[in-house]
Amino acid sequence: MVGEPQDDCLFCKIAAGQIPADVVRETETTLAFRDISPQAPTHVLVIPKVHHRDAASLAAAEPAIAAELLREAGQVAGEEKLESYRIVFNTGSGAGQTVFHAHAHVMGGRGMQWPPG
Ligand code: 5GP
Ligand code: ZN
Repeated sequence: MVGEPQDDCLFCKIAAGQIPADVVRETETTLAFRDISPQAPTHVLVIPKVHHRDAASLAAAEPAIAAELLREAGQVAGEEKLESYRIVFNTGSGAGQTVFHAHAHVMGGRGMQWPPG
């Protein structure tokens, strides 16, 4: 069922505390933790605790949680003292999504190119 924990989902397991993560922030509905393979000096993932396959699906089903996720991304950037940063939602394997549980990448601490690759 949509929103229910998925047995085969890595981020559902992290949200449930079944797999450890370097957590930087937590709210009732979201969790922020450091990416295991950082691509920038700051690289934090912000996830909803409920399972949705991507950010747009989350926003359609649970707009309040989607807003909370974005607010938390901003809080992470503030705590990491990032003046500039990027929030990325890879959506679909062709765009680089590898974990099909919605998540924001909050990345900063280095220069960034536009457009991204
Ligand atoms: P995606 O490629 O789906 O946009 O992002 C998935 C992210 O999850 C990748 O940046 C990857 O490094 C990160 N990741 C994969 N497995 C783990 C893990 O077990 N722990 C943490 N903290 N990050 C992970
Ligand atoms: Zn999940």
